[in-house]
Amino acid sequence: MDRQTEYVLRAVEERNVRFIRLWFTDVQGFLKSVAMAPAELEGAFAEGTGFDGSSIEGYARVYEADMIARPDPSTFQLLPWRTQANTARMLCDIKLPDGSPAPADPRHVLKRALNKAADMGFTFYCHPEIEFFLFKAPLVPGEPPVPLDTAGYFDHTTMDDGTDFRRDAVMMLEEMGISVEFSHHESAPGQHEIDLRYADALSMADNIMTFRVVVREIAASQNIVASFMPKPFTDAPGSGMHTHMSLFEGDHNVFYDASDEVRLSKIGRQFVAGLLTHAREITAVTNQWVNSYKRLTGGGEAPAYVCWGRNNRSALVRVPLFKPNKSSSARVEYRAIDSACNPYLAYALLLNAGLDGITRELELPEEAEDDVWALTERERKALGINSLPRSLGAAIAAMESSELVADTLGEHVFEYFLRNKRAEFEEYRRQVTPFELREHLPSL
Ligand code: GLU
Ligand code: MG
Ligand code: MG
Repeated sequence: MDRQTEYVLRAVEERNVRFIRLWFTDVQGFLKSVAMAPAELEGAFAEGTGFDGSSIEGYARVYEADMIARPDPSTFQLLPWRTQANTARMLCDIKLPDGSPAPADPRHVLKRALNKAADMGFTFYCHPEIEFFLFKAPLVPGEPPVPLDTAGYFDHTTMDDGTDFRRDAVMMLEEMGISVEFSHHESAPGQHEIDLRYADALSMADNIMTFRVVVREIAASQNIVASFMPKPFTDAPGSGMHTHMSLFEGDHNVFYDASDEVRLSKIGRQFVAGLLTHAREITAVTNQWVNSYKRLTGGGEAPAYVCWGRNNRSALVRVPLFKPNKSSSARVEYRAIDSACNPYLAYALLLNAGLDGITRELELPEEAEDDVWALTERERKALGINSLPRSLGAAIAAMESSELVADTLGEHVFEYFLRNKRAEFEEYRRQVTPFELREHLPSL
């Protein structure tokens, strides 16, 4: 038994933990959880806990349904909101009965990409800026949600519910070992942002799953509703999950080059070139819902075109300015990804897109200096700037022929994802929307 496993078994006893929740994620990015009695824990570490994979979105067909969840002892944490009976959680790796990794396990998809980076000598670090909305409860089905407040970007409001909410969320995240860098009100009414301190991509994807639970738990305890929906309002900005990324070789940030004009190394430039090359193909995963594309329409500080820039918030990839003496903070920011993605799959694709740029030594195109939203289609064409997919349907079409996405996700997830998203888009296409009724029916 390794030291971490021993530590967990001891902690469960010493802290009188009554329930242990095993967490894992389905292909769409929803958290699954099974609670276990402490007496079962040693067995779960040794052999895993069985479950029916055919009942989990994207995992298996009925005749190949048996799956095993193996808890990862390094993710052991007490759940601060379970105060009546001490409860802890661990994230799991999902295995097939023969002990091999389940192809549908998103955590495995990310681990595979991280192993590839490790073979090239790199560790992949991320930090996300997670945006979300707080609404008044209850939501009325079919009606627009009502934002909890009417404040805007960085507004400081005394005694506002949102401020208390952010404080409680940050404290609970810290209690669970998730460090927070910043938190503030975002531009839209009821919209908030919490930025997590950078960590390796696997820990970060685990942290994002935990973050969503924490935010929803606190909202429920304050009788409000938290939502990660990408674009709840037509006329207000949506919720992105801009992600800052860097590659390290040991302690050395390989994106940093003091002699470069933007202090971005050749490897950093190639990484960005890879992101731009594959951006259209990976968008169905970084922005996986019909609603995600309402956010990427140009404006609201969400990107709509495939280009990079320094201080350009209309660009898809931004190279933030950082202090020259802080080489460790050299990084690039990918701005399309939204708060309702599956973070494991999205981070695996961002990493592999960037690594492909390094492997193929792709050349970074010219920086976009203008507000690309304001250019005409012809001007963008002249600059070689493509648009991101304009709908889930277009994103699926771009993904279908992508070798990079097929290789990264593996055949099982790739096929499932396309099938599932085609069905969603077809269902959406059938809908007659309030917009059409307004446009086409005579007004009285
Ligand atoms: N809410 C914006 C988006 O959808 C981002 C605003 C910001 O720059 O933080 O991407
Ligand atoms: Mg923001
Ligand atoms: Mg940002």
